[in-house]
Amino acid sequence: MSAAAQRQRIAVIAGDGIGLEVMPAGIDCVTAVARLHGFTLGWEHLEWGSDHYRAHGRMMPVDGLETLAGYDAIFLGAVGVPDIPDVQTLWGLLIPIRRAFEQYINLRPVKTLPGVASPLADSAPIDMVVVRENNEGEYSEIGGRMYRGLEEESAVQEAVFTRRGIRRAARFAAELAAGRRGLLTSATKSNGIVHTMPFWDEVVAETVRAGFPQVRLRSELIDALAAGLVLHPHRYDVLVASNLFGDILSDLAGAITGSIGSAPSANLNPERRHPSMFEPVHGSAPDIAGQGIANPIGQIWSGAMMLDALGYPAAAAHLVAAFEAALAAGTRTRDLGGTALTEQVTAAVLTEIDSLA
Ligand code: ATP
Ligand code: MG
Repeated sequence: MSAAAQRQRIAVIAGDGIGLEVMPAGIDCVTAVARLHGFTLGWEHLEWGSDHYRAHGRMMPVDGLETLAGYDAIFLGAVGVPDIPDVQTLWGLLIPIRRAFEQYINLRPVKTLPGVASPLADSAPIDMVVVRENNEGEYSEIGGRMYRGLEEESAVQEAVFTRRGIRRAARFAAELAAGRRGLLTSATKSNGIVHTMPFWDEVVAETVRAGFPQVRLRSELIDALAAGLVLHPHRYDVLVASNLFGDILSDLAGAITGSIGSAPSANLNPERRHPSMFEPVHGSAPDIAGQGIANPIGQIWSGAMMLDALGYPAAAAHLVAAFEAALAAGTRTRDLGGTALTEQVTAAVLTEIDSLA
């Protein structure tokens, strides 16, 4: 088979706001590192997001999921703008993609970066990974509103957890911990949430005990865990949490390392039956869009995670080393206390990619 026939195809959804500015940085850096490692990727741009919503009343075409199914991965910038309700972005694009392609793991590495100050007094280096269950739990459509407008008005929202869903998230997190420092912390709230959380605790404990004797499992109440992340973050290695708790913890964990603009994420289908999706943690940041000052590290790092998942771990490590070197040399955007523009950071990373070759 020719190299071109083997070339993996990437669906690119740059989206809105700074998504449009950091995406070229991500593509250029991934392309450069791939070339040095002897392969190329096929990038295909899909113009989905808020403009598509304004024109067609949907964030993506009716057959959007069928289109995406044909790709090896999805590389996303940021979708959403202030005048379109968030719920359209989430339920019209992100959640359907995560569910249709069984991206049941949301993975967020959280690491102190060179030259980037943490807002915390404790300056010990932070190196952890947050594993969020991405397909079920608290993010459910089951429920409703009753007696609208009346004094009796009420709302019910059901959280649904399955043994299969908890087990596969726990297994993924335990495997990760086994390859790191061997410490897995599971977020719970079984003292207050008396049905779903004790079930979560049981299945996580069972899974880890049965398959990963070398992993130390600690179950922590979400409130104490949130405080612990602020007080002594360097004590954590791998965190595993439900959809809602994982969402909150990963933003918190990202914030304590210095900037949301540098944080990457992967929505993974670990079995690789379907495309996984890679996106920076930040949103479209309308307040700074159009100025060329967005930090592209979150997008570039997400590109490294994509390379890893596509089977190119050496290229992924090369790219991470390159942006760390660029940061260490002092090329930083304003959110990191520097003055560099998006393009200047990209250029610095490209230079480091070459010099580390
Ligand atoms: P969304 O609703 O799409 O999530 P948001 O309004 O929540 O967007 P985020 O983009 O998540 O905003 O980020 C919050 C703030 O952090 C932004 O307003 C911006 O000032 C800053 N920020 C986020 N990403 C970056 C980045 N890549 N570079 C620099 N600053 C950023
Ligand atoms: Mg946001």
